[in-house]
Amino acid sequence: MATDVSTAVATERLIDLQGLHAGYGEIAVVRDLDLHVGPGEVVALLGPNGAGKTTTLLTISGLLKPVEGTVHVLGKPTAGIAPYKVARWGLAHVAEDRSLFFDLTVAENIRLGLSGNKAQRKAAYDQAMDLLPALAPLGKRQAGLLSGGEQQMLAMARALVSNPKCLLVDEMSLGLAPIIVERLLPIVRRIADETSCGVLIVEQHVHMALEVADRAYVLNHGELVMSGTAEELARDRHLLESSYLGEAAMH
Ligand code: ATP
Repeated sequence: MATDVSTAVATERLIDLQGLHAGYGEIAVVRDLDLHVGPGEVVALLGPNGAGKTTTLLTISGLLKPVEGTVHVLGKPTAGIAPYKVARWGLAHVAEDRSLFFDLTVAENIRLGLSGNKAQRKAAYDQAMDLLPALAPLGKRQAGLLSGGEQQMLAMARALVSNPKCLLVDEMSLGLAPIIVERLLPIVRRIADETSCGVLIVEQHVHMALEVADRAYVLNHGELVMSGTAEELARDRHLLESSYLGEAAMH
């Protein structure tokens, strides 16, 4: 009997948040969030400044402990698990600051993400270069001398060579011209399509994000105010905008 791939994709959850309250110390800045990401999906986490998007990503990768609720990565609860162990399960996190070593070359930065035997490392490196070909001729350049867009690509390449099953990307567009963001976001789509990785992106360029995402969640003041397919959200522009403005939209 043929396997129904679409059902398998829809039901498997690489990242699964249930009733998540996340924040700093005992203070939850994200409240009661349910969110999931499946294999091969690009999911956008949207919302105005201070909505709680970065806090959510930090909690998924274990850098912050949930105040309440549960986080499952690849079907396993992350409670009590050190972030580096969650990373070893197959979760990669490209942080907002990109966390590059500016004094090292592009190739050296990428090497830091590699693991496995020689053949596996070569295959992972080749796959990352196939997805991010603009980096291939820059191997010997110091990371600190790259443009903002190239640095973002390098941060993604370093994450990709670890063969992640889920990838978190926090504001890849930070400090970049919209035209560069327009070129980078389709790479995220290709990563999901070609590696079956589940990708959760935080993005300020809402409409560009919805062009590559399958689904999206909108947070405002730490609460989920909207979620749905990217198509639904893009179609209902008014509702999307008012979800950003919150009460201000009512006046
Ligand atoms: P932006 O789009 O501006 O990056 P965001 O949606 O990612 O915003 P967060 O960075 O998650 O928002 O911040 C959510 C709330 O948590 C904000 O009110 C912020 O001031 C607060 N916050 C962030 N970091 C800390 C911290 N280390 N200690 C206490 N509060 C914090």
